[in-house]
Amino acid sequence: MIRDPELLSQLLDTISRFVRERLIPNEERLAEEDAVPPELLEEMKEMGLFGLSIPEEYGGLGLTMEEEALVAMEIGKTSPAFRSVFGTNNGIGAQGILIDGTQEQKAKYVPRLATGEILSSFCLTEPDSGSDAASLRTTAIRDGDHYILNGTKRYITNGPEADLFTVMARTDPANKGAGGISAFIVQGDTPGLIRGPADNKMGQKGAHTCDIIFDNCRVPAENIIGGKEGQGFKTAMKVLDRGRLHISAVCVGVADRLVEESLHYAMERKQFGAMLADHQLIQAMLADSKTEAYAGYAMVMDAARRKDTGENVSTLASCCKLFCAEMVGRVADRAVQVHGGAGYMAEYAVERFYRDVRLFRIYEGTTQIQQLVVARNMVREAS
Ligand SMILES: Cc1cc2nc3c(=O)[nH]c(=O)nc-3n(C[C@H](O)[C@H](O)[C@H](O)COP(=O)(O)OP(=O)(O)OC[C@H]3O[C@@H](n4cnc5c(N)ncnc54)[C@H](O)[C@@H]3O)c2cc1C
Repeated sequence: MIRDPELLSQLLDTISRFVRERLIPNEERLAEEDAVPPELLEEMKEMGLFGLSIPEEYGGLGLTMEEEALVAMEIGKTSPAFRSVFGTNNGIGAQGILIDGTQEQKAKYVPRLATGEILSSFCLTEPDSGSDAASLRTTAIRDGDHYILNGTKRYITNGPEADLFTVMARTDPANKGAGGISAFIVQGDTPGLIRGPADNKMGQKGAHTCDIIFDNCRVPAENIIGGKEGQGFKTAMKVLDRGRLHISAVCVGVADRLVEESLHYAMERKQFGAMLADHQLIQAMLADSKTEAYAGYAMVMDAARRKDTGENVSTLASCCKLFCAEMVGRVADRAVQVHGGAGYMAEYAVERFYRDVRLFRIYEGTTQIQQLVVARNMVREAS
């Protein structure tokens, strides 16, 4: 739901200019240095990007889902690793506290997440539990007014630098399912929280992941999200619902950028005495990519608007993530094809994007998991 079209249009213009003038020119540096340049990080904080979806009462911009999707599409037009740094504070790193946290928890942490003063991470995945997240093994055993956490979390985005972690752990070892899981807020400097070395990833250089190991890590009992045991898995799933729409919007933005790169190249290069863009087989690729990107846009906008009216969009969010993550993979593949040999060379952005977008089909629920969610919900609704 757009609350103030004029304000939103100003925000989108500012972000679009920032993407064009500051982020796109720094894409290669981001990839080479495997780090977001510090001055850009500061500019992102000043623009409020760390608090996009955080309510205004906690110092964020309080964007609705539709507004956030439009912003994510703009941000998607540059390397996804730029978004990854502040995306976690808005999304999986803060939403657990915002959706299910107590008033005290929100007041203590959310304002600092909104400004980017502290960075956050979301710890669900483990070495033996990925798609089957409810089987996680990290334990949190009550000991007086603390819980003692033990276990390993894997591939944690922002893990090497985060100040705050939302951690899903089993408080009831007798309950092996989702009901035995609780969510905790764990500060990065807590003794017993150990960061593994940064992972060497295929793409999205500049966004870091690592193992987070809990070795008798003592966490105050007051840090259990919502103050209640057994709610953690539900919290994680609610967080992922919003995250799936956000990621889908980013996929649409990246697809738009790749269509633009492809069109630009096809109009510049000549073969057989004509622009590539005049050859009909190239036109077919351009048209297919444009059409699919538009289909993704229409899906995300519809689901985001419905979410803003209070509708349960769990199924639609999975439909969007399923389609948009696969769609941007096809668009990236065609972009490389339109570029021919140049598309295989690191000096062209499409080579980097081709590797970057591969992740969208894997994290925040793989394509197969989205298929299962959609089909299961269909069967449940029909019976
Ligand atoms: C760069 C990166 C960043 C990440 N960031 C985070 C983060 O910040 N926090 C976090 O908690 N996690 C994070 N993850 C983890 C990510 O969410 C998981 O990798 C993902 O959920 C898949 O789990 P898995 O890797 O264990 O694969 P698996 O679950 O082992 O899946 C392997 C394959 O089997 C398929 N599969 C599994 N179960 C079924 C089934 N029932 N039916 C059909 N097919 C199935 C999957 O779709 C996949 O193709 C990140 C991962 C990466 C790569």
